[in-house]
Amino acid sequence: QPGAGDGPARSSLIPGVKYALAVSSGKGGVGKSTVAVNLAVALRQSGAAVGLLDADIYGPNIPMMMGVTKPPEQRDGKIIPAENHGVKLISMGFFVPEETAVVWRGPMVHTAIQQFFRDVLWGDLDYLLIDLPPGTGDAQLTLTQLVPLRGAITVTTPQNVALYDVRKGIMMFQKVNVPLLGLIENMSHFVCGHCGEKTEIFSYGGGERAAQAMGIPFLGRIPIDPAIRTGGDSGLPIVVGHPDSPQSQAFLDIARKI
Ligand code: ADP
Repeated sequence: QPGAGDGPARSSLIPGVKYALAVSSGKGGVGKSTVAVNLAVALRQSGAAVGLLDADIYGPNIPMMMGVTKPPEQRDGKIIPAENHGVKLISMGFFVPEETAVVWRGPMVHTAIQQFFRDVLWGDLDYLLIDLPPGTGDAQLTLTQLVPLRGAITVTTPQNVALYDVRKGIMMFQKVNVPLLGLIENMSHFVCGHCGEKTEIFSYGGGERAAQAMGIPFLGRIPIDPAIRTGGDSGLPIVVGHPDSPQSQAFLDIARKI
């Protein structure tokens, strides 16, 4: 098995990209796409050139989270990425009809992803964040093998079922020699906007313990906050909409570590 990004054929897929990083999760609904979007914008705010590839074939909702409604333009057989908040964006959602129940198999993902690299004019990027589908199936394995990844970030909630799945995800990356840059605990607690009481809705601290147990860095925790959700729904990520909030600072702190 070739290592991360060391094969010439793999690297030449995306010649202008310095760091291709996967954002992954063991299960759906833990906030992987929300984290990918806010980290992409946070990295952009730090001055880096950033692209975001929404490869979550089962629920490609990053265009909405990024406030992008127009599909990318095509010129001379090449695709020009959409762009908002300073981040270039390509999503499976632009190319797959919404009403299609997507049942993707490895070879189909293989072809689509190859096209996203071969035919998309990404230009020079410091970071290309790739929002992977949740889980550790065939499609994920194909992606991790095809894309010359420099590393992977994994997102989890602190509850036990999510942590069980995250271990499987980490093992998948280890199997294909992609370095784990670290784990992010999302939805780690909720602070009531009225009384200030802290509630650990999905438990607390499990992400950090799992990271320690698996020997990977713990990158930080993001609380549950309605403003993070509305930021996603409105296409104005919290890092853009409320840059001074503690939640945005949490994303910025994590961006500094990757
Ligand atoms: P995934 O990509 O893992 O399926 P999403 O990023 O789509 O998860 O998030 C699932 C839902 O949870 C979305 O409605 C999103 O707005 C919301 N969400 C994610 N993280 C948070 C958070 N920290 N606080 C509040 N809502 C969140």
